[in-house]
Amino acid sequence: MLLSAKWIMPVNGDPIEDGSVLVRSDKVEALDLRATLVRSFPDEPEIDFQNAVIMPGFVNTHSHLEYSVFGRAVEPSSFTSWILQLIKRSRQLSLEDWENSARLGASLSIKSGVTCLGDIVSRGPGFNVLCESGLRGIGFAEVIEMDTARNDDVMATLSQRVEGWQEQCAGSLVKVGVSPHSLYTVNPLLLERLGKWAKGHALPVSIHLAESREETAFVRDGRGGLVGEYREFLGWDHFPLRATGLTPVRYAEQLGALDGVIAAHCVQVNAEDMAVLKDRNVAVAHCPRSNSFLRVGNAPVADLLGHGISVGLGTDSLASNEDMGLLGEMKHIYLAKSKNKDSAQAFTPRKIIEAATLDGARALGMDDQIGSLEEYKEADLIALKLSVRITSPNELFEYCVREACKGSVIFNMVGGNILFHQRKSVGKDRV
Ligand SMILES: [Zn+2]
Repeated sequence: MLLSAKWIMPVNGDPIEDGSVLVRSDKVEALDLRATLVRSFPDEPEIDFQNAVIMPGFVNTHSHLEYSVFGRAVEPSSFTSWILQLIKRSRQLSLEDWENSARLGASLSIKSGVTCLGDIVSRGPGFNVLCESGLRGIGFAEVIEMDTARNDDVMATLSQRVEGWQEQCAGSLVKVGVSPHSLYTVNPLLLERLGKWAKGHALPVSIHLAESREETAFVRDGRGGLVGEYREFLGWDHFPLRATGLTPVRYAEQLGALDGVIAAHCVQVNAEDMAVLKDRNVAVAHCPRSNSFLRVGNAPVADLLGHGISVGLGTDSLASNEDMGLLGEMKHIYLAKSKNKDSAQAFTPRKIIEAATLDGARALGMDDQIGSLEEYKEADLIALKLSVRITSPNELFEYCVREACKGSVIFNMVGGNILFHQRKSVGKDRV
């Protein structure tokens, strides 16, 4: 099938005006001028999106599909008050509620142009939904446990869960990973064990890291907002507190919990931390709108990029974001950078688009398969309609980060399957 549009944006190279992409089975076979491909493949069926851009699908490097039901109902007075509220509301949901919630998240993701997710799965139903959704991704089995006496049980349960999921997703577009939630919800001995275990089983790992000032105070000083009411509510107040004197990044490194992980947020990081992140081959899932909503600060993205660290974009969940798409994250970065010169230089419109696609794929270790439109890469691509006539690549980059919104998405294809076309969900149809 030929997919044609006014612009094709491969991301790894310059945009093609009046171009087409040839998709055969699950792969991109060619991209070129439309006239050339129509001449070479005269019998090939074609969808011509006309005034639109065809580009690689967005890679959401940090999401929680299961949390989609929550919505940003209450403005948080602090990070701790938000997370407490989330836990309280979580306890009212049945497994069926979690599944419906994840289904909502997957559907919203598809309509927003996301084709691949690094999704944190807390309860389990989210993994089934991810596998059935037609989306590509990694489902990270989340671990939360502060009681060291339970570590053996936790590892046994995790091992069983991961094995079951691997069987379930064999042959699908979904892989299994592990996510120790954070330094303030997983005990240090378990973090050490998880790091070694994941490495031994070659599983990708994702962790929330250096998100809030409360986390830094908890790790470094053994005090702050994550100590009092929070620990009491969770029944963790009798577990010993440690003032490590270290930043979250340094502490995670000391526990062996950092090598090659995808670290979500990384807001509270200094220059020394960034050198450690680079040294340990950590990729950052940058979640600008969630960070802004939770008022945890701005991640030093220009510096992270300056250190050569892979930075992908993430929405986090609908408990701290307004939608599940990356166009909103891109626009947020674009608007914020006008106030910050360093960030403006590091994050040009073209670079923002790369962060949402190819860099995100790199962060998830999938850039050999997806993230750009290249011959023999997977056919994970989307079309965004353009509301104005665009005459140059630079105008196109600028339009995509400034003007495009989730309503601009008119087509979503993952591995050659059309998941969404012209505002109609069509299920998994092979082209
Ligand atoms: Zn998160």
